[in-house]
Amino acid sequence: MTEFELIRRYFASQPLARNDVRVGIGDDAAVFHAPTNNDTVITSDVLVADVHFYADAAPEAIGYKSLAVNISDLAALGAEPAWFLLDLTLPEVRPAWLEKFASGMFELAQRHRMQLIGGDTARGPLSIAITAVGFVPYGKGLLRSGAQVGDDVYVTGALGDAALALAHLQHKQELTAAERTAVIQRLERPTPRAAEGIALRDLAASAIDVSDGLLADLGHILTASNVGARLQLDTIPLSATYRAQLPAIGWDYALAGGDDYELCFTAPAANAAAIHSLAEKHSFALTKIGEITAATTLELIDCNGQPYVPKNKGHDHFASHD
Ligand code: ADP
Ligand code: MG
Repeated sequence: MTEFELIRRYFASQPLARNDVRVGIGDDAAVFHAPTNNDTVITSDVLVADVHFYADAAPEAIGYKSLAVNISDLAALGAEPAWFLLDLTLPEVRPAWLEKFASGMFELAQRHRMQLIGGDTARGPLSIAITAVGFVPYGKGLLRSGAQVGDDVYVTGALGDAALALAHLQHKQELTAAERTAVIQRLERPTPRAAEGIALRDLAASAIDVSDGLLADLGHILTASNVGARLQLDTIPLSATYRAQLPAIGWDYALAGGDDYELCFTAPAANAAAIHSLAEKHSFALTKIGEITAATTLELIDCNGQPYVPKNKGHDHFASHD
């Protein structure tokens, strides 16, 4: 048995077998049945050691996050995650590392009922590329281009903790041990908002996942939809840890930090009550943070009603996106 056959072994024994997979790992290609009356939704993300993560980071966390970022992209479309492929390049085969990597990845796969159905393995600098596949009822995928003037703008969860954690790891930000634990969890093990995305299919007009910072990612919705937005700064949701640090650190991590993997979406104001009861029913954290405007700018308004200009704009869209 070659070492790469060994690797396939690690990945072939997984917690979940979906009954819509006809051929999984082991043949030249995988075969699965997408449900009828659905569109197939596919996405991929590559994570490169020392670019996207530290090569010496915990392997469970690397495995978890490689899949999480892909589920987050499916969630932004409102798609139900189902199958994935794993392309690995490894400088060497380290069984203990691979076992932990696989356990972090399969923990999240199981939570979202996803099955690994194939991939490729080669020798090279450490990198992990996952292709995730899901499905959504015909034509129901949430797009960046659907925002309309007058829509409310919402985000799930809380923003900025992952960027705060990264700043801490880079010795730019002091934190207590308890604060560190809380925010590192958000950086290493973000929660992809798959259930939220699915539930919002019939209520939201547009959506994106927040991977590059709220202003940058909402900017993509504005560009694709040819609209603007006005956000109320003090409504942007922060964790208790972030809020305690707010006087010292300001809003920048929440506005322009990356790696949150929350959803930002817009919805007609007429859907506000339905969205509110959805959040109650499923215990989703959803916060309205502003409105879509006919301008082509993204405006931030502070608690005194004055325009707020972030120190770190972090993207092209703050002033204007035309
Ligand atoms: P081929 O040469 O036909 O491309 P491989 O020898 O690369 O086949 O792979 C054999 C089987 O193992 C395939 O089913 C492939 O999808 C699977 N496989 C290879 N690497 C991985 C991996 N990293 N994760 C999951 N499945 C893998
Ligand atoms: Mg082949």
